[in-house]
Amino acid sequence: MKTKIYFEHDLKKLKTVFDNTVFNCAKICVVTDKNIAKIYFKNKPISNKVFYYVCSAGENSKSFDTACSLYKFLIENNFSRQDILIAFGGGVIGDLTGFVASTFMRAIRFIQIPTTLLAQTDSSIGNKNAINFNGVKNIIGTFYKPEFIYINTSFLKTLPPLEISNGMAEIIKYSLLDKDFFNYLIEQKNIFKDEKIFMRVLKKSVRIKLNIVKKDKLEKNTRRFLNLGHTLAHALESVSDFSLGHGQAVSLGIIFALYISCLRNLDVSIMKKVIEILKNYALPTKIHCLNKDAVYTKMFCDKKFDNGKINIVLLNDIGNPIICNDISKTQIFEAMDYLIDNKLS
Ligand code: ADP
Ligand code: ZN
Repeated sequence: MKTKIYFEHDLKKLKTVFDNTVFNCAKICVVTDKNIAKIYFKNKPISNKVFYYVCSAGENSKSFDTACSLYKFLIENNFSRQDILIAFGGGVIGDLTGFVASTFMRAIRFIQIPTTLLAQTDSSIGNKNAINFNGVKNIIGTFYKPEFIYINTSFLKTLPPLEISNGMAEIIKYSLLDKDFFNYLIEQKNIFKDEKIFMRVLKKSVRIKLNIVKKDKLEKNTRRFLNLGHTLAHALESVSDFSLGHGQAVSLGIIFALYISCLRNLDVSIMKKVIEILKNYALPTKIHCLNKDAVYTKMFCDKKFDNGKINIVLLNDIGNPIICNDISKTQIFEAMDYLIDNKLS
């Protein structure tokens, strides 16, 4: 069965959605982080049905330690399989909650309420969740469906600008997989100038992801196209000890992938256009220093690493991605050099 996705821009219907869906459960556990709790749950409604699990904000909460602490919280509060978890937050909360929901008592239901642009367009869609382990991002996880996904753009009003640009990196990535959408983004210049345009972009991004996921639910094949920019991004995040935001890393990862694509057959003018869009949304297109050996080593820890080879998604053209596993170390280092000293931009 398809997972229902709500798209709303105000909170008027929130209560109805929940009253209709969170039907017969005895207990609900809202999982969120400290920053979000401060804004949205200052005065937590007192109810013996609703519990709040609040963890620290940031990537470090996507850990076994936090998952274990959440399991403990659920056990101590007598949660059963009939109960529901609500992931109320960004990608960290969605991943952590999805992982715990899929494993607690062999799976209990959960609802996704993504509150960052990144989570609304990417991580809450596609039924994947994960935690980080041993310094490797998303290395332990499951495929598990939420009851529904509730996307409300009003939550984005409290989001810091850096987090908006983080989400833009994934939106720009989708546009590289769909020519019409790419042209639309270029035409609009600034998608935030009009709420209708923004909603259209949000829905289109979700649709592109859903279409790709639908064809390859378990990520054996074409779903890997969604990893465009991510081979380098995950390595950069890991080497920076997650101080570099995901979208920031994806922005650099996209340029890295396009540079290698240009070494093959991509038109350099396309890479330049993409760099302009990334800049337009305050995303980094250069990095001051880069430990190339450390980043290269980390690339081999990635899940996209198969049989001793790194798989990197490249572009033949906008809307025409290809997965390559024969990229030489020299090409990889040359592309990393390009990020440090961006000669063509
Ligand atoms: P992502 O969705 O980018 O994976 P996180 O879950 O780490 O990321 O969220 C990014 C940051 O944004 C965190 O510090 C989190 O507390 C904060 N955050 C999430 N949603 C909101 C919101 N709606 N308003 C303000 N801050 C938020
Ligand atoms: Zn991503």
